[in-house]
Amino acid sequence: MSESEPWICPTCGAQHAPAAQPPAVCVICADERQWVPPTGQRWTTAAELAASGMRTEVREVEPGLLGIGVDPQLGVGHRGLLVRTAAGNVLWDPPGFLDDAAIAAIRAAGGLRAVSASHPHMYGAIVQCSRVFDAEIVLPVADEGWLMRPDRAVRRWSGSEPLLPGVTLVQCGGHFPGSSVLHWADGADGAGVLCVGDTLFVTPDERRVTFAWSAPNRLPLPARAVRGIVDALEPYAYDRIHGGWWDPVLRHDAKAIVERSARRYVEVLEGDI
Ligand SMILES: [Zn+2]
Ligand SMILES: [Zn+2]
Repeated sequence: MSESEPWICPTCGAQHAPAAQPPAVCVICADERQWVPPTGQRWTTAAELAASGMRTEVREVEPGLLGIGVDPQLGVGHRGLLVRTAAGNVLWDPPGFLDDAAIAAIRAAGGLRAVSASHPHMYGAIVQCSRVFDAEIVLPVADEGWLMRPDRAVRRWSGSEPLLPGVTLVQCGGHFPGSSVLHWADGADGAGVLCVGDTLFVTPDERRVTFAWSAPNRLPLPARAVRGIVDALEPYAYDRIHGGWWDPVLRHDAKAIVERSARRYVEVLEGDI
């Protein structure tokens, strides 16, 4: 392979720094919140994935919001979200693989001002996106050590960060100290949208949300962290939640449902079943 091509860990989808040899292990996957395959660490490249038939899938999620997924699934299987505003666009939770079709779709939508992500399992091709579109990478300082392909274009933030008019990043913590959501005030016809990655999860019936410190290892989130997420979101109006995957989607009444679901989650932790 070319030395200028990043290594991709197919288990988490994160691009790692280009080098003659890949790292011994992906530290994102060696962490207790992820997993390494029983057969051992694997590595691939974008060229290898393209040759295997991997393609991106781009489709409108709602007016002003474009989803960018990968088929077949890569990493945790998430899809990215391109939030379009009159002042420019932000790509949230980029997938680990981008092809020419995805790049053309982003360009046709007006390119990128910024690229950000909910947490390290969804950093994917964040540096590649920044370089292709000359966009800044905006990541919480609490998680800065998890970017496996260090880059000068990173701008760090903490707490909350206004990114574009109507688009604010909100640090919620929990799954990772820097786990965040993107609040899009104009989404859901002006009622407000949260793009959450896996900072919280919409459940299959689309009527509640839940929380996890590690989803693959079935480790719950402590009560104080659940309360921290609800407190961080309290100042924001939102009616809909898009998680890290095409579905499920929490379509209406999301704020009340988050508060109710968090109360019930803590009750269960305390033994009330
Ligand atoms: Zn990994
Ligand atoms: Zn995760």
